[in-house]
Amino acid sequence: MFLFVAYALLVWFAALRWRRRLAGLAAIVASMFVLHLVNLVHGDVARAFGYDANIFRGLMYPYMGLVAAIGLYLFSFPRELPRGRVHCRACWFDLSDHEELTPDTPCPECGTTQTEAKSLKGRRTARRRLAHSRPPVEVPGLVVTADELAPDDPNRHPHKHHAHG
Ligand SMILES: [Zn+2]
Repeated sequence: MFLFVAYALLVWFAALRWRRRLAGLAAIVASMFVLHLVNLVHGDVARAFGYDANIFRGLMYPYMGLVAAIGLYLFSFPRELPRGRVHCRACWFDLSDHEELTPDTPCPECGTTQTEAKSLKGRRTARRRLAHSRPPVEVPGLVVTADELAPDDPNRHPHKHHAHG
């Protein structure tokens, strides 16, 4: 029985940790699939040994319902930081001091308008633009280019090495 409690806690943790993200929903759906399989396997075992699987099912279905219901409840928790504070939906920059911003004014941090940030595609475009527009970070004796700061960008240019001194 401990396993069932631990399993439920694990699913709820994942649902909360990745709430409002595809991963959180996937965790809940996958957990239901696993429990469904356990139920099927148990049914086969019960048939093979000639005992009644209905008692187990009678516990399993409410258990699955409970795991899914609480999982979805935790999944629905808002991601937003403290209430009343406005954040850029693309980079989470705190916009509370920028109340003059309209949905079509670019974010001072990443340049994304909040209209654009509403869609996944817009946020992706913004991230790409941010990676390309980032100015080089100057450290004495070392030059880091924007390309090196965004190594996973597939469109990056070959490394530029600046020799100093
Ligand atoms: Zn931003």
